[in-house]
Amino acid sequence: ATEVIEKDVVIIGAGPVGLFAVFELGLLDLSTALIDILDKPGGQCAELYPEKPIYDIPGYPEITGEGLVEKLIEQIKPFNPSFHLNRMVESLDREADGRFRLTTDAGDTFIAKVVVIAAGGGSFQPKRPPVPGIEAYENASVFYSVRRMEEFRDHDVLIVGGGDSALDWTLNLQPIARSLTLVHRRDEFRAAPDSVKKMHALLEAGKIDFQMGQISALQGDNGQLTGATVKSKTGETSVGCTRMLPFFGLTMKLGPVANWGINLEENLIPVDTAKFETSEPGIFAIGDINTYPGKLKLILCGFHEGALMAQAAAHIVDPDRRIVFQYTTSSSSLQKKLGVI
Ligand code: FAD
Repeated sequence: ATEVIEKDVVIIGAGPVGLFAVFELGLLDLSTALIDILDKPGGQCAELYPEKPIYDIPGYPEITGEGLVEKLIEQIKPFNPSFHLNRMVESLDREADGRFRLTTDAGDTFIAKVVVIAAGGGSFQPKRPPVPGIEAYENASVFYSVRRMEEFRDHDVLIVGGGDSALDWTLNLQPIARSLTLVHRRDEFRAAPDSVKKMHALLEAGKIDFQMGQISALQGDNGQLTGATVKSKTGETSVGCTRMLPFFGLTMKLGPVANWGINLEENLIPVDTAKFETSEPGIFAIGDINTYPGKLKLILCGFHEGALMAQAAAHIVDPDRRIVFQYTTSSSSLQKKLGVI
């Protein structure tokens, strides 16, 4: 995990604005890496409203959050950005040669001449359920996401929640778990009907257990869970478990961005409106994370910010280069880069 990845530009955040920045930077021949905490690209569009229609994307009278993300990924394909998902950028420092060094919680290192912060509302962090003492078990036997399914093999798994994540992992982990119990406060589920149907089939076949109620206490020691108490209207029951996965949704927190030595204004990053550069030369901020007079948190504004940022970034990567303004409709050199001629 000590790989060092070198690119012209590292983009923190693969939301719609980070994705489109790959396109604008690519037209100017800059190579890019995209890093995101989530397990898929698309930021808020993919995580918070994949099926909701958006009505103010230029040229698309109506497109869903997921649909827009798919189109953006298709559009940036010619530039072959590297995707580094499931990792959070933890540190950002300048090297003696002026380039930036970034490290993630997965242990990898990135070196780049330019950093683009497209971190939106910050990092998505799982909501912690209100169970006393749960902190002591986190990352040892209580997990808020499944990074490696093998960690759950032959364990007594307890999944808590009634949404898509809870149901998806119930279906995926049941075949490898020693036992699996699903706990939800109601017997109605806010998940894809097909998943709910499959879960009921497992329940009827006796392959999983279901308990209605809320987790009120945990048992175990040294971070290793042995059981949980489920409290319901009718009383308390105890469930044996060695792994617990609570899925209570995500909240957005600014996270480590606050420690990178960039000026902040009420948790947003002030930028100029010619280059969208931060108080640190070579570090840009685009999309929902930035602020300037008149700022609107709209996807289309983030796209514009990316276009202007790219011009300034190209100048940092190669100060001697003269950038000629070109249209994609009429420039054969741009069309070659896009692979359309
Ligand atoms: P985000 O989409 O927030 O993406 C940021 C990404 O950065 C995230 O994936 C996050 O995981 C990642 N990240 C953050 N910190 C780190 C870190 N340290 N390391 C690694 N990764 C990190 N806008 C419109 O224009 N039209 C609409 O109709 C519209 N409808 C909306 C409806 C809802 C319900 C919501 C919630 C928003 C809506 N928006 C709409 C707003 C729009 O979604 C945002 O403006 C847009 O997502 C901002 O894009 P972004 O790329 O800047 O940030």
